[in-house]
Amino acid sequence: MNKIPQVIARQLLLLIAFSLPSFAWNDLGHLTVAYVAYQQLKPETRHRVDELLKLNPEYAIWLTELPAGISDEDKRMMVFMIAATWSDRIKDNSQYHMDGSHNGNRPPNDATASLNIGYTDFAMHKYWHFIDNPFSQDGTLLLATPTPNAQTQIDAFRAVLALDSPDLLKSYDLAWLLHLVGDVHQPLHCVARFSQAQKKGDDGGNGVKVCVPQNDVNKTCPEIRLHAFWDDALGISNSPKAAIQTGKSLLAANTTLVVKVNTAVWIAEGFQLAKTKAYQPPIGPGKGSFALTLAYRKAAGALARKQVALAGARLANLLNSELK
Ligand SMILES: [Zn+2]
Repeated sequence: MNKIPQVIARQLLLLIAFSLPSFAWNDLGHLTVAYVAYQQLKPETRHRVDELLKLNPEYAIWLTELPAGISDEDKRMMVFMIAATWSDRIKDNSQYHMDGSHNGNRPPNDATASLNIGYTDFAMHKYWHFIDNPFSQDGTLLLATPTPNAQTQIDAFRAVLALDSPDLLKSYDLAWLLHLVGDVHQPLHCVARFSQAQKKGDDGGNGVKVCVPQNDVNKTCPEIRLHAFWDDALGISNSPKAAIQTGKSLLAANTTLVVKVNTAVWIAEGFQLAKTKAYQPPIGPGKGSFALTLAYRKAAGALARKQVALAGARLANLLNSELK
C-alpha cells in the first residue's frame, strides 16, 4: 500500500474508533488505578501478582512496551499497570471475537456469557465491563439489569483468587479484576438512564451527547458521548509514565470508604454518584446535545481523581487480603 492511502486508512480507523460507543475509563484511568494499588501492595502480594501476570499471553509484548533502562522493580510495577488495560486491549486483538448482541454490550443468552475458563476463552465479554442499574427521571418503565455484568464477574474472580485454583485461571481472573475494579469506580459504569426518549436505556450515558465549548474564535462545541466525557475526566494518555505522575498527584482516598470491601456497595456508590453528579444540569432529559459548563467539567475532574484513588486503594486491600 502506498503512503497516502495508508494515511487515509489510518484516519478512517481513528474516525471509526472514536465514533463507536466506549464503555471504559480510558487507559490513563486504569493505569493510574493500578499504580495507586501497587504502592499499597505488601511485598508478598507484589511477588504473587508478578508470578501470575507472567502467565498472560501478552506478557512478552508488555515487556517490549516498557521504557528502556528502568529498574526491575519498576518493570514489575509497569507490567501490573499495563495488565489493568488488558481487558480493553483484547477488543483490538483479532484473536478475540465479539460475543453477545448490541455491539457486544449485551450478554449472549447461554452459559458462554459467564464462562470462566482462563485464556483459552477468546470471547471479548464486553458486557463484563459495566452494570446497567436502571433509573428514570420521568417515570419511564425500567428494564431489569442484564447479567452477567461487572458485579457478578468481580465477585466470581475474587472467589477464584481466594481459592486453591490453578495459576493459569488465576492469572486470567486477576487481569480482569485489575480492570473491573477500576471500571466500577467510573460512575457511568454503574447506571442506565431510562426516559421517554430512550425507553431501552441510554447505555450508561453512551446514548447522550454532550459538547465541550472551545475557546476558539468560532466558539465551536465538539460533540462527544456523556460516557466518553466521564471516561476521559481524569485526563487522556496511554503512557505508564503519565499515569505515575497523575497517581503521585492524587490525594489519599478517604479511609472510611477504603475499608468497604463489598462489590455491591462500590456499585451502589457509583450508581448514586451517577444520579447526583453526572445526570445533573446542564445534562437535561433526552439525548442532548448538552453544552457542558466549566463548573460541571471541574466537578467531574475532581470526582474522577477521588474515584481513581479510591479504586486503587480498594484494589490493593482486596489483593493483600484475598489473593492466595
Ligand atoms: Zn472496561
